[in-house]
This record gives sequence, C-alpha cells and structure tokens, in this order.
Amino acid sequence: MNLPLPDVVTGACYVERGDAVYGNHVRAARAIAAGEHLFDLDGSMVAAASRHTIQLATDRHLVPADRMWAFLNHGCMPNVRVDVVQRRVVAIAPIAAGAELRFNYNTTEWKLAAPFSCACAASACSGEIRGFAWLDAARRAAIRDWLAPHLLERFDRFG
Ligand SMILES: [Zn+2]
Repeated sequence: MNLPLPDVVTGACYVERGDAVYGNHVRAARAIAAGEHLFDLDGSMVAAASRHTIQLATDRHLVPADRMWAFLNHGCMPNVRVDVVQRRVVAIAPIAAGAELRFNYNTTEWKLAAPFSCACAASACSGEIRGFAWLDAARRAAIRDWLAPHLLERFDRFG
C-alpha cells in the first residue's frame, strides 16, 4: 500500500509501506534518468544530528520538512545522492520503475546519530554504517564523487 505522500517536483517516486522487518521505503514511480532532480529538502536547521537529519556542514544539520526524506534508505551502492548545496535529491544512475531509491548516508554524515548494520547486499557493502569518520581510506575514496562539501574538503586535505 502506498502512503498518500506528495512528490512536489516530478512525481517520480513514492513511499511504499514496509513491514516489521523492512520498513517504509521510497520507490521509483517510473523510469528515472541519471541526473534527474527528484525532490527538494526544505526544512529547519539544528546544531546536532538526529536519525532523520542531513548534515550540511560541520555544525549544521537539516531537518527536512518533506516526509519523503524520512523513508529514503541507505545503500552502499546508491542510485541517488543528496546535493546539500542545492538541497535536493538527485539520481546518479538510471533507475527502473519500481526500484528502491537509496543514498549512501556516509556521503553526508560525519558521525551518524543512529548507527546500524547494513544489509544492502552490495559487494562493496560497508557493514556497520556509522558515518564518514569511521570509513577506511579505500571506502572514503570509493564515494568521493558523491561527498557533501564539508566531507570532500576534509577528504582532499586529510584523506
Ligand atoms: Zn551496505
């Protein structure tokens, strides 16, 4: 069953209600092209991270007003990314209708407020998802193209 959540930008995705094992999640309503802008992340700013915030800078975390955001799951091999400058979610690969949309939480979060074990089944799965701070050099390098500016700056200076 789909929740009645609006997608104000393109109508490209929807929230599918999950079960006790696998919770609510976001799926493509139609085929999506790489580079498509899927939805915006308007909201309020807080100083500390929580389960549903997005880190924009060292001490700036966005609490998105759009509920679509709260259901976007992590994936170690993601098909969307968060553009923290434009504050939007963008496809980084072609996505088939019905496929789940996922972004890599380690590309925006220095340290996750609520770490968890990933079960994404990607060959490059990081296992425990705790934030960029805890990744080794190889895993940091593998996600460089998708990093939020505050992490990219740090990576390019310190690795
Ligand atoms: Zn994973």
